[in-house]
Amino acid sequence: MTAELIPAIAEKRRPRVLILGGGFAGLHAAKGLARLPVDITVVDRRNHHTFQPLLYQVALAVLSPADIATPIRGILRKHKNVEVLMDEAIQIDKERRAVKMKSGAEMEYDYLVVATGSTHSYFGHDDWAQVAPGLKTVEDATEIRRRVLLAFELAERQMLETGSHPPLNFVVIGGGPTGVELAGAISDIAKLYMRHDFRHIDPAKARVLILEGGPRILAAYPEDLSKKAVEQLNALGVEVHTGAQVTDVQPGYVVVGNQRLDSVVTLWAAGVQASPLGKLLGVETDRRGCVMVNATLNPAGHPEIFVCGDLAHFEQNGKQVPGVAQPAMQMGDHVARMIEQDLKGTARSGFHYFDKGDMATIGRMAAVAKLEWPFKAHWSGFMAWITWLSIHIFFLIGFRNRIFVFWEWAWTYFTFTHGARLITGSQVLPGWSEQQGVEREETNQPLDPTSPGFRNHHGEVATPADEKR
Ligand SMILES: Cc1cc2nc3c(=O)[nH]c(=O)nc-3n(C[C@H](O)[C@H](O)[C@H](O)COP(=O)(O)OP(=O)(O)OC[C@H]3O[C@@H](n4cnc5c(N)ncnc54)[C@H](O)[C@@H]3O)c2cc1C
Repeated sequence: MTAELIPAIAEKRRPRVLILGGGFAGLHAAKGLARLPVDITVVDRRNHHTFQPLLYQVALAVLSPADIATPIRGILRKHKNVEVLMDEAIQIDKERRAVKMKSGAEMEYDYLVVATGSTHSYFGHDDWAQVAPGLKTVEDATEIRRRVLLAFELAERQMLETGSHPPLNFVVIGGGPTGVELAGAISDIAKLYMRHDFRHIDPAKARVLILEGGPRILAAYPEDLSKKAVEQLNALGVEVHTGAQVTDVQPGYVVVGNQRLDSVVTLWAAGVQASPLGKLLGVETDRRGCVMVNATLNPAGHPEIFVCGDLAHFEQNGKQVPGVAQPAMQMGDHVARMIEQDLKGTARSGFHYFDKGDMATIGRMAAVAKLEWPFKAHWSGFMAWITWLSIHIFFLIGFRNRIFVFWEWAWTYFTFTHGARLITGSQVLPGWSEQQGVEREETNQPLDPTSPGFRNHHGEVATPADEKR
C-alpha cells in the first residue's frame, strides 16, 4: 500500500534516495541503503561527520579536531551507489519531489531522508551567540578552546604588566550533559593540566560556575544521579547554581536576575532547537521545530519522506525519544530497512527505540551512567567514567581514530599534559578590556549577591535590596 505511493517502486525503476545530513542518522541510513539496488546522494553542508559527544574534548584541548571528525566522502567511499555532495539544502518542494541547494543546484528524489539535526537556541536572544558560543561543530569547539586558553594568557600578561587581572570566572550557562561536561573539563584544565605552566598567575584559582535555570542539573537523568553529579562537580571545584535564571549575557559578564557576575569566558549549553529545515518542510512541527513523525518516521501524508535523528519528534510509550546519538543511529538503520521492505513489496515495520541508557562525563575520571541494557543500573564515579570512555571510543568512526583517541587519552591521563592546547585565530577576548584588574584574593569569593564579583546590571555592587527586586 505504502510502496504504491512511491512512483519508482510502481514503475520498477531504481529509486533515487536523497539524504540530507551526514550526521549519525544520515550516515546510518546511507550505509544501510548502500547494499540495496538504489542510488543514494548524501548532502551535507560540511565535508565531515562530527562525533559530537567528544566535541568538548576538542574544546578543552584534550583531542584534536581530526580525532573526532572524518570526511563523509571517505566514510562512504567503498559504496559505489553512494555519492556525496557538499552543499546546503535550503528549500524542499514536496510536490515536485526536489530539493534546492544553496549553490543553486536542484536534486530530485524518490525518497527523501531529512536528518539535519539540531542547533543552539538562545531563546530569542540571538545576539548572545557572539558572547557565549555553544558547542555543536568543530568550529565551535576550536572557538571555545581559543577563548578558554586565551583568558589564561591574557591574565598572565596583565598580571605581569599591572600586578592584577580580572577574576578568572568561567561561566557555563545550562546544566545539561554538555554544560556538565564543559564545566568539569575547564576545571580539570585549570586545576590539573596548567598548574605548572604559568609564572605570574595561579590557574588553579580560576572559578568555574554552572548556572542552571531549573531546580537541578542533568534534569533528564534520575535524581540520584543529579545529586552524584553535583558532588563530583563540587569535588572538582565547580560551583553549581540551580534556579539561576540568566537574563542577560554581555561581553565580560552575565546577569542573573538583576545581579551581575563577571565572566571572562561565557559558554552556552542551555537550549537546542531543531534544524530550520524541519519548518521548511511545511509539515507539523513541535515547539522546538522538530518534525512530528508517525511509526514509520514519516510526516503525515508523506510516505516518501523520512525524518530521523534530532530533527524527528517520535513518541514511544507517550514520551518523546531523546535527541541523542543512539536513537539517531537506530532511526537511520530503520529507514534503510523500510525502503528494503518497499522494494520487496512487504509492509513497513514500525520503528522501536531500543534504549541502552544515558551517560555524561564529569572531568577527568568521573561520570554518571543510567544503564538500561544489558542490565538496569545507576552508576557514578570512576567505573561510570571507564564505561563512558569505552563506549565512546568504540563508537568513533574508523579504526585509526579509535587507536589515536585511546592513545591520546591514555597519554593525557597519565602525564597530565594536553597535546592540542593551541590558540589560533584572533587574540581578542570579548569583554576583556572592559574588565577591571583586581587582586587575586578578591576574585574567589563565593557567588553571593553582596560579593564584589556579583553586581547588578548597572555595574553597581549588589546590595541585599537588589536581591529582593
Ligand atoms: C556537545 C555535544 C555532546 C553530545 N554528547 C552526546 C553523548 O554523550 N551521547 C549521545 O548519545 N548524544 C550526545 N549528543 C547528541 C548527539 O550528538 C546528537 O543527538 C546526534 O548527533 C544527532 O544526530 P543527527 O544525525 O540527528 O544530527 P547531527 O549528528 O547533528 O548531523 C546533522 C548533519 O546535518 C548537516 N546539516 C544541517 N543542516 C543542513 C542543511 N541545511 N543542508 C545540508 N546539511 C545540513 C550538519 O552539517 C550535520 O552534519 C551530543 C551533542 C552535542 C552537541
